[in-house]
Amino acid sequence: MKIVKIEQFFPLQRVRLVKITTDNGIEGWGETTLEGKPRSVHGAVEELAEYLIGKDPLRIEHHWQHIYRSAFFRGGNVLMTALSGLDQALWDIAGKHHDVPVHQLLGGAVRDRIRVYAHWGIGNLTDEAKAAARDRLDSLIAQGGYKAFKSGPGGKWRAHEPPAVIDEFVERAYLMREWVGPDTELAFDFHGKMTPAMAIEVCHELKGMRPMFVEEPVPQENVDALKQVSDHVTFPIATGERLLTRWDFREIFEKQAVAYIQPDTSHAGGITELKKIANMAEVYYMHIMPHCAIGPVAFSASLHVDATVPNFLIQEQIDQGLGHGLLTNAWQVNEGHIELPTGPGLGFEVDESALSDEQKYREELGGEYYYDTDGSVADW
Ligand SMILES: [Mg+2]
Repeated sequence: MKIVKIEQFFPLQRVRLVKITTDNGIEGWGETTLEGKPRSVHGAVEELAEYLIGKDPLRIEHHWQHIYRSAFFRGGNVLMTALSGLDQALWDIAGKHHDVPVHQLLGGAVRDRIRVYAHWGIGNLTDEAKAAARDRLDSLIAQGGYKAFKSGPGGKWRAHEPPAVIDEFVERAYLMREWVGPDTELAFDFHGKMTPAMAIEVCHELKGMRPMFVEEPVPQENVDALKQVSDHVTFPIATGERLLTRWDFREIFEKQAVAYIQPDTSHAGGITELKKIANMAEVYYMHIMPHCAIGPVAFSASLHVDATVPNFLIQEQIDQGLGHGLLTNAWQVNEGHIELPTGPGLGFEVDESALSDEQKYREELGGEYYYDTDGSVADW
């Protein structure tokens, strides 16, 4: 079996897909969405296609090693996102070739269903926003019986903020707890936009409503700063959506900088690397909660690793079972869980008729740039 064609698709905002076709007609799908770098990833996939065409698609580890190591310079998020999507597509082909779900090729499932969390929060404290949040909560519970939700403080945060800013966020968090009760998990993503001191102060105010975790309290580059936050906070801290490969996670593990990690199967190195990162984390009693805020192929790839990793806690899910309208057979969420995929490969088929609406690079061109009131760049 040989790879004969590699194509790319841009059907939706924040959804870029890659399809690998073999000489015997098997098609494998992967996802290469990377916020802010659409042209770069497209170019990287085209470059890597020159290597992959004519190769045996079943030598997944060998191709991973070639793409990661053979260019002498290691790749950053552009190369790793391209590699991740191609890796997912190769696993999809392998599963279809052997007529089994990918999780069977990864060692077999260690659980019967995958626990997921949805995005939900109270945007602000106006009556209108609270009513909308209440409706959204009721709808999510009715749709999928979710028992875990994530939101965030929103907006821009300077190195320090006055009590009113902190209190507004804290009040929203406590109101969320009041609404969902004590048997539902609530988590908050700080989006890496606080300083360690600010994050510790805010976490101290949050602790009474018992969060499941706070995600990326500080930017991702400095592991010691992250550990400083963890050391001063009594509930779990998480990070990982912007970390690439085992080598980025190594320092997190060795310094025990967080409680949980959130590698993304479309950035960290695909299914191959996500499984290895999870296995490394097991040694440190860290659970994985794979990040996935993009499209349905990345999500389905995550499910197969989640199925096979003992130290899995929960999977991020944003589409509520619709597969973004791009799949012929999307998953269902029941009691906050998704059943294991049973079809060959990734187990979910892309509806190619839904790919004709080409969005090109729309999602990356502005609207996501933040400046502070003094005109300086702010993290968002
Ligand atoms: Mg995040």
